[in-house]
Amino acid sequence: MNQQGYNPYAAAQSQFDQIADVLDLDPSVRELLRQPSREFHFTIPVKMDDGSTKIFHGYRIQHNAARGPAKGGIRFHPLETVDTIRALSMWMTWKCSVVDIPLGGAKGGIICDPHNLSKGEQERLCRGYVRQIAKNIGPVIDVPAPDVMTNGQHMLWMLDEYETIFGGHYPGTITGKPVGSGGSLGRTEATGYGVIYSLREALKALDIPVSSTTASLQGFGNVAEYASRLYTSMGGKIVAISSWDNHDQKSYTFRKKDGLDIDKMVAIKDSFGTINKEKAVELGCELLDGGEWIAQDVDILLPCALENQITTDTFEKVSKNVKVICEGANGPTAPECDELIKKRSIFLVPDFLANAGGVTCSYFEQVQCNSNYFWPKEEVLEKLDEKMTSAFQAVYRLAKEKDLYMRDAAYIIAINRVAEAVKLRGWV
Ligand code: GLU
Repeated sequence: MNQQGYNPYAAAQSQFDQIADVLDLDPSVRELLRQPSREFHFTIPVKMDDGSTKIFHGYRIQHNAARGPAKGGIRFHPLETVDTIRALSMWMTWKCSVVDIPLGGAKGGIICDPHNLSKGEQERLCRGYVRQIAKNIGPVIDVPAPDVMTNGQHMLWMLDEYETIFGGHYPGTITGKPVGSGGSLGRTEATGYGVIYSLREALKALDIPVSSTTASLQGFGNVAEYASRLYTSMGGKIVAISSWDNHDQKSYTFRKKDGLDIDKMVAIKDSFGTINKEKAVELGCELLDGGEWIAQDVDILLPCALENQITTDTFEKVSKNVKVICEGANGPTAPECDELIKKRSIFLVPDFLANAGGVTCSYFEQVQCNSNYFWPKEEVLEKLDEKMTSAFQAVYRLAKEKDLYMRDAAYIIAINRVAEAVKLRGWV
């Protein structure tokens, strides 16, 4: 997952350390929060379709559970590393805290490429993962969800294995389940929509109407798809999307200066976000190098793919006209780049605030499962908008009041809440 020389865990810790200094955090609280509280690394033997057995490597890392059960996705990625998952588990703690939901932070992953696995192999992998971790997850311990290259079907296989082991129905064990099988309406859209709710608030703060803006996106998985849909429905124009091409093992940027038709782009992508090149060209797209998404002359950049995409190198290509960077992905900006963003006075909506819509809706899913009563979609999305907007406003108020960078303001709120919970529990 991480590129040569880049360590997301070091990045997460350096962001944390800076804020711990500002907050003059108690040394033991600091030591506790700058690392995960528990890590599970395990092997998963899977019977493959050809009769062989392949050994996969799985992880579940729980960063903190002071404010509630640990919470966070499970990702499938061929280049997954333990340090990436450590960083992501930490970011989950801050994410749940900044939107003020009663959950902690965790993350999981399996080193694999689901493109190369049959449906049956994927099911056995999901079930094998749960067999290794079942005793250490659950509604009151740690609640997984989908993440990069995992979906509702994977979650339901995992839940089914858990429920088979424990002999009962425990729908609060996993979120992001399919609708009708304990899932919440709106969960599929939630992360992408949440990104756009926060972008809308950012544009309001800058007094820029959404309908006058243009954007360029990186990624075309679940987050980017729904962010694109909502943004364009508000009148915004997307001129470029960069996506990973699994066949060519490289990414491309698809550009259409008069605006991409999102429905048509979605119709020509696979479930992991690979866009069909030939069909895109037929739709009138220019085919550019994958890295070109960042160089477009737009008002808004929406990194919605992976970590470490906005670096000191790639930032040089960012157009002088960019006014907002809204981070749909987790950790897309390298820490040393924050200074450059500040210097250019680009308004930043930090990842763990911008993309908190997914976990917020996961929390709504838990609430609905607990009461065994499911809300209409409009109600879910209304509550989601409310939560995202009030979290954005709280961060923005602090940033304005104390003249802070948005990432720092979000961290101050999130870390303070967790530090407080840790102290109140008497852990330090
Ligand atoms: N994987 C999503 C995230 O990174 C959602 C996590 C969840 O719903 O627990 O925020």
